[in-house]
Amino acid sequence: MDSQLHIALFPYMAHGHMIPTMDMARIFASNGVKATIITTPSNVPFFSKAIERDRQLGFEIFIQLMNFPTAEVGLPEGCDNASSIIAPEMIPKFCKAVSLLQNPLENILKDCHPNCLVADMMFPWATDVASKFGIPRLVFHGVSTFALCVLDSLRRYETHKSLASDFDPFTVLGLPNQIKLTRLQLPNYIREKNKHTEAMDQIIQSEVKSYGVLINSFYELEPAYLEHYRKVMGRKAWLIGPLSLCNKDTEDKVQRGDKTSIDKHECLKWLDLKKPNSVLYICFGSMFNFSGPQLLELARALEASGQNFIWVVKKEEKFLPEGFERRMEGKGLIIRGWAPQVLILDHEATGGFMTHCGWNSTLEAVASGVPMVTWPLYAEQFFNEKLVTEVLKVGISVGSQEWSRHEKKILVRMEDIEKAVTMVMVGEEGEVMKNRAKELEEMSRKAVENGGSSFSDLNALLEELKVINV
Ligand code: UDP
Repeated sequence: MDSQLHIALFPYMAHGHMIPTMDMARIFASNGVKATIITTPSNVPFFSKAIERDRQLGFEIFIQLMNFPTAEVGLPEGCDNASSIIAPEMIPKFCKAVSLLQNPLENILKDCHPNCLVADMMFPWATDVASKFGIPRLVFHGVSTFALCVLDSLRRYETHKSLASDFDPFTVLGLPNQIKLTRLQLPNYIREKNKHTEAMDQIIQSEVKSYGVLINSFYELEPAYLEHYRKVMGRKAWLIGPLSLCNKDTEDKVQRGDKTSIDKHECLKWLDLKKPNSVLYICFGSMFNFSGPQLLELARALEASGQNFIWVVKKEEKFLPEGFERRMEGKGLIIRGWAPQVLILDHEATGGFMTHCGWNSTLEAVASGVPMVTWPLYAEQFFNEKLVTEVLKVGISVGSQEWSRHEKKILVRMEDIEKAVTMVMVGEEGEVMKNRAKELEEMSRKAVENGGSSFSDLNALLEELKVINV
C-alpha cells in the first residue's frame, strides 16, 4: 500500500484565505506529503507560479480545478473570488454559488482519494462531505486562537446584549486576560441576529464535528489562549504557523498572493536607501476600500508625521491632496494595487506597520519583528487589535471605534493617526515595542525550526494522520 499521505486543501476564494492555505500546502509538500489544492478557474494563477517552483524542487503539489457556478446564480463569468464582488447585490449570489460547491467537492474527492481534507471554515458542509469518504476533515479558520476564544465567550455569555450603550466598554468574560470591547466594535452578526449569525452557527457546529482545527499561529504567541481553546472550549487544535515563514527567498515573497504592482528591484532599491527602522508600511489588506475623505485624512497625517512610508492603495482610490505625491517624493512610496508585503516587512528599513489587523498581516508583522499601528475595520480585526496592543504589547491603536464592512465617513481623525504613527516610529513606547517585537520574531522563527513548537505540532499531526489511515 502507498504510505504517502495525500492531503486535499480547499481554501475559500479570497486572498486572505488562499494565501495561508497555499503556504500550508507548500509546508505539507516539503514534509513529504502529496498536497492537492482545490480551487476555481480564476484563482489558479494565484497558486500556479509557486507550485511550479516547488514541483521543480521535486515536491508533490498539485491543483485540482473545480468549476464555480457563476451562470447558475447570475454572476458574470470569472467572478469567483471575493475581491471580484464589486456591488452589494453580488454578495448573496456569490454566497449561493459557494453553497453549490458541495457536489463538485464530492466529485473531486471521489476521483482523487485524499487521506484528509483541510477545508476552510466557510464551507461548513465539508465535514459531512469528508465523512462520506471516511476521511478526517480539518478546519482552517485563518484567524488567531485569541479571536476564536473571544468569539466563543461572546456567544457563550452574551454580555453585550444587556448593555445600556453601544459605546461603553464591557469585559469579555472567562478569558485569561481582562479584555474590554464596546458593542460598536463587534461584528454585526454578534451585535444582532441576522443571516450571518445562522451561518456562524453552522460554521461552529461543523468545527465541533470535525477532526480538529489547524491554526496559523504558534504556541509561544498565545499559550493561555491555546490552553483555553483546548481545555475550556474542548477543541482539538494544531498550531503550525507562522505559515508565511515558509517563504524564504525573494522570489517566494514576491510571488505570494497576487501579481505585484511594483517591480521588486524598484521596491528594494527604495528601501535600501532608507535607514533601519525608518519606514512605516501601510496596508489594509486585500478587501477594504476607504472613503475619499478618510484617505485624505490619512494622507495629511502621514505628511504631518514627517515619517518615511510605503502606502498601498487600491487602484481605484483617487484621493490624494493637491501636490501630495510631488511633496512626498523620496519620502513616501505609493503602491497602487498589490504590494510584496512580506518582502517589505522583512526589510530592515521597515520599522512600523499600519494595519487593519487582518490575521495574516498581524502574524506577518510578528514574524518580521515589526511593531504595529492598529486600525481595525471589520471581521475579527478588533479582537486582534486587543491581542496586539494589550496582550503582546507590540502596537498602538489609532482609536478605531466602529466595526464597519463598508466605510462611508471619516472614522479616525488626522491628529489621532499622526499621534499613533509618531509614538510607534520615534516615541519611547515605540522603542520598547520594537524590542518586544524582535523577541516575538525570534520566537516565531524558532517555532517553525526543527524541534520548535509549530514544527512539532505539524509532525504530530502528520504522524496521527498516517496512523488513522493505516
Ligand atoms: N497582501 C499582500 N499585498 C497587498 C495586500 C495584501 O501581499 O498589497 C497579503 C498580506 O501579506 C496577507 C494577505 O494579503 O497575507 C491579507 O490577509 P489579511 O488576513 O491580513 O487581510 P484580508 O485581506 O483578509 O482582510
